[in-house]
Amino acid sequence: MTRTQRQGGLTDGLREPACNSAEARLFFPVHGSALRDGQVRAAKGFCGRCRVREECLSMGMDESEGIWGGTTPAERRSLHVQIRRMRQDVTPTVTQVIAGAKVRVPHTERPAVVHRLLAMGWSVVRTAQALDLSPSEVEVARITAASVMSFAAAIARARRVDDGGVRPGRR
Ligand code: SF4
Repeated sequence: MTRTQRQGGLTDGLREPACNSAEARLFFPVHGSALRDGQVRAAKGFCGRCRVREECLSMGMDESEGIWGGTTPAERRSLHVQIRRMRQDVTPTVTQVIAGAKVRVPHTERPAVVHRLLAMGWSVVRTAQALDLSPSEVEVARITAASVMSFAAAIARARRVDDGGVRPGRR
């Protein structure tokens, strides 16, 4: 999607994008260069108070350039990977852990496995012991899982709204 297309405006007539008042070039690299740190910080400042952030992120998830929904291209790539990891089927691993087997959970499966065990009512300490991790490692995995799922839910919500006829435009 080009900058011009994006400037169509992410609005449903009620909510205006926070970046409407900003320079469009703040959100995109200039002449193919990488986004600068200061530029990213300033752009994210707008996104942090934007009322159409979910729609913007949903629209920009596959974009390889620019800031969308408060994320950089690298952050969106990482989010894609983490969402895929959270969606992988970890049932075999969880079943083994419940059965008391000593399982070495790969780092990439850890948030999904921890999430499943905590959702079953296991405490952080019990989960840590079962997975041979420290409680703080379990806590990090729990926070990672929660934030990835919250991003995925926001994107799904925005896509449902979009399908329902509220067409987000972009700045
Ligand atoms: S880039 Fe997206 S999230 Fe950020 S202010 Fe603009 S419309 Fe909102």
